Amino acid sequence: MIRFLFVDLAFFIAEKESPGGLFKSYLCLMLFADVAAPESIKSRLTELAGNGRVAHALLFFGQDGGAQLPTAVAFARYLFCGNRGTQDSCGTCASCLKVNKLAHPDLHWVFPIALSKDVRKSDDVISEFREAFLEFPYLGLNDWFNSLDAENKQPVIGKDEANEIIRKLNYTSYEGRGKIMIIWMPEKMNHEASNKLLKILEEPPDETFFFLVSSAIEQLLPTILSRVQMIQVHNANVSEVAKVVAKNFQLNQQQAEHVAATAQGNIKQAFLLADDNVSGNIYLDLYRNFMRNALRFDPFKITGWIDEIQGLGREKQKQFLIYALQMFRNSILIKHIPQQITGSPEERDFLQKFHPYITTQNHEALTEEFGKASYHIERNANSKIVFMDLALKTNELLNKK
Ligand SMILES: [Zn+2]
Repeated sequence: MIRFLFVDLAFFIAEKESPGGLFKSYLCLMLFADVAAPESIKSRLTELAGNGRVAHALLFFGQDGGAQLPTAVAFARYLFCGNRGTQDSCGTCASCLKVNKLAHPDLHWVFPIALSKDVRKSDDVISEFREAFLEFPYLGLNDWFNSLDAENKQPVIGKDEANEIIRKLNYTSYEGRGKIMIIWMPEKMNHEASNKLLKILEEPPDETFFFLVSSAIEQLLPTILSRVQMIQVHNANVSEVAKVVAKNFQLNQQQAEHVAATAQGNIKQAFLLADDNVSGNIYLDLYRNFMRNALRFDPFKITGWIDEIQGLGREKQKQFLIYALQMFRNSILIKHIPQQITGSPEERDFLQKFHPYITTQNHEALTEEFGKASYHIERNANSKIVFMDLALKTNELLNKK
């Protein structure tokens, strides 16, 4: 009962995530080779461009936080590139360099915003958007609104934006390769904006490509769906994610495969793990210290540990919890089928020492508690309270045996 209160209380004292780069070792470039999307989609797009069969409106769609937005940007780069190959953009021409900063004058952006007195259209927060995208291009709506500190506001593409789109259609293309307007999350258009877009798509202007990028196509008007070329961006498989991770974080093949397998193909988790792999595995240290301190329940050490993880921010806190779940699973595996464990020598070493404390009796309960903590962290509960609560519960479970 007391524990329940503890966690409920954590929601009331929700804290603000400190800003700051998510990855230390990642430079977002967005060639096709940098995008964790299936190879089949990339080659379909380069073929469309090669055959001059790109429709005036494309709809890239996939799961929230998937690769549809980076894929659309990579394709825009490919169409603009002054020196493209059959598979990818050159990455070094004047046009590619502008796309690197999302500052190509023929690339226009529309995305959901939190309307206010000062913010009426996407261009009013374009520099914030560029920053969020370049930090992590597999943006979900929550990532974007968190970066704006607008979590509780309604994301919308409204009528001022629709007028802005119409105004921009009159611009001529600066670099002579047409204009591309990326509309991210068209499902957030209000009624008026949807109708205006529909009118435009009915009579497509010359020289302008519309790239709609959606994670909820069921919310789009059927009349809009009927006017676009559909590009479904499936999730990349583990080996495709590993390839991109190896390139983006300069990891060797084996490290990259381990990272992608641990993250089970999830791109954000793979990037976080890869980033830390470059500077040593912080999650192993966190896990080792947490489990040891929880086993004997040393309140001073636990408090110090909580201060440390608090400084890492919410994404890494979640990542730690996911890492711990993987370690619990490996603690059981190492007893029975040790050859299935892919971790580093340091990870195996700790698993060997600590596995007697994680048994088939407490494994399930530990997994459940760490899963619950992850749920609470995800929903902005106070991390100090969540982790103190988790340490108490872990102490109880490890000593239960
Ligand atoms: Zn180029």
